[in-house]
Amino acid sequence: MPRKCTVCEHEKVEEINRLLLEGVSLRNIAKQYSVSAASLHRHKKDHLPAKLVKAQEAREIAKADSLLDQVTELRDKALSILAKAEQAGDLRTALQGVREAKGCLELLARLQGELQERTTVNVLVNPQWITLRTVILEALDRYPEARQAVARALREVEGNVVGQ
Ligand SMILES: [Zn+2]
Repeated sequence: MPRKCTVCEHEKVEEINRLLLEGVSLRNIAKQYSVSAASLHRHKKDHLPAKLVKAQEAREIAKADSLLDQVTELRDKALSILAKAEQAGDLRTALQGVREAKGCLELLARLQGELQERTTVNVLVNPQWITLRTVILEALDRYPEARQAVARALREVEGNVVGQ
């Protein structure tokens, strides 16, 4: 028998949820928002967890999107490094790098497609991300300075994601 939840339907439900999460007493919240403590209790037990899961999912999607942006930036950076090597006249090495970078682009495209298909994805443990990461670093093996810069950027990207 589905019963209407006065808390879920309350116009200030977001605020109430936040107070519930902060551990404010049910009696105080009940008084402030004109809902019964019993409704608050039921809402906290039955409805709040589902809302939290949804919020967490939204954050995951946001994280994945921003990581994808950063990977794209990284790819551009890697390509410009290769371009510089080419300009410097080290053609054979640059061509090798370009071939590898092409592999990066293909993987990135696949990663992008997958991100759009799935609502949540943990990119850091995604095998394609790990492959992409390895390929980028391998491609830059002959450019130690560039490799270092990219490795640093990768660590920053991953640190940001974990730290968010
Ligand atoms: Zn509710």
